[in-house]
Amino acid sequence: MGDAIIYWEVTTIDEVMIQIDSVRKVYKVGSEKVVALNSITLDIKRGEVCCFLGTSGSGKSTLLNLMAGLEKPTKGVIKIKDEAISKMNEKQLAKFRQQYIGFIFQSYNLIPTLTAVENVSLPLTFRRVHKHPREKEAKALLKAVGLKQHMHHKPTQMSGGQQQRVGIARAFVGTPSIIFADEPTGNLDSRTSEEVMNMMLKMVRDRQQTFVIVTHDQEIAKYADKVVYILDGNIEKIEEKTDDIRRYVHHEE
Ligand code: ADP
Ligand code: MG
Repeated sequence: MGDAIIYWEVTTIDEVMIQIDSVRKVYKVGSEKVVALNSITLDIKRGEVCCFLGTSGSGKSTLLNLMAGLEKPTKGVIKIKDEAISKMNEKQLAKFRQQYIGFIFQSYNLIPTLTAVENVSLPLTFRRVHKHPREKEAKALLKAVGLKQHMHHKPTQMSGGQQQRVGIARAFVGTPSIIFADEPTGNLDSRTSEEVMNMMLKMVRDRQQTFVIVTHDQEIAKYADKVVYILDGNIEKIEEKTDDIRRYVHHEE
């Protein structure tokens, strides 16, 4: 008596969330052509934590922007939940992004004139959520990222780590299926970056979200289920932590 009963529930998720098929991206700069991505083919599963690792200029941000529908590929197709986002028009894309995608930027990209609560609730404004439920969710998320005391601070009144937490809360608002992060710890010291990584991991695992991170930092790769090494616009190799994607959901009562 008195011992905790522990249940282990194994959930296998092998639904493809993001499908990248022969994607190429060439930028034209004057008369020069820059091949940012040569030919990328890859699937990312639902609930997977996938890290793209590569040096500066290898094409990581380009790929992330294509996956998030912020740019169009020169060739190839990107599907999210079986919908070809690479073929959508701006209006369809905006709606799709609002519904399914959260984005965390290296440079936080907060609106300087807005408080933490206002920044976090902004995506819900676009979804036409009313003020009260909007602020309620924003406040709950800010609490979850440890910013209970900073709800009404503006970006300049917060440290880098705190601003990044606001950026994280904003990406999670409305529980999008996919969270994209471009060098999310790039401006943070190593201790803060570990805290921020652990926090993001807990949030995506709790919500069974797909998490795609691009980084040049080897340390970040250790958090991922799958590490995709990018070199000169190509996939160099892929390392997977487990044979198949299994989630061990730990319940204690
Ligand atoms: P990473 O994020 O890995 O540092 P990027 O995806 O930003 O790499 O860039 C890949 C390559 O594409 C680089 O050579 C970069 O200069 C080029 N590039 C990226 N964006 C543009 C752009 N908007 N116009 C022209 N060249 C670009
Ligand atoms: Mg980049």
